Amino acid sequence: MTHGTKKKIMVVEDNPMNKILTKEILTVQGYEIIEASSGSDAIKRIAGDKPDLILMDLNLPEMDGITATKILKSNDVCKGIPIIALTASAMKGDEEKILAEGFDGYISKPIDMKQFVKDIASYIKKKAEGQP
Ligand SMILES: [Mg+2]
Repeated sequence: MTHGTKKKIMVVEDNPMNKILTKEILTVQGYEIIEASSGSDAIKRIAGDKPDLILMDLNLPEMDGITATKILKSNDVCKGIPIIALTASAMKGDEEKILAEGFDGYISKPIDMKQFVKDIASYIKKKAEGQP
């Protein structure tokens, strides 16, 4: 990574296999990974952890990813952090629905490793350039 500073990605995911896979792929790419197991866990830790990007599973215990995203986006401290939905839901029209809920992007599961890496790099770059 440039400047020797690792970009931080918060992965909000409850499925152990998905957690391991996502963490491995992103760690190899040079990102620092912060794990949260639920929407409420993500909200609790957001101010202290200050990630550059959040990957949000939609089906989570305690609080679903859409509710958590709405809460995060209503908070001045973290509303500028892009939140990307990670979901198995991939029917036609779902992407529009998900973006309308306040997410900044959408990645469908199961993830395609190469495409996933490209997508994450592009979201991180957009954030660094200050684009919405
Ligand atoms: Mg889940």
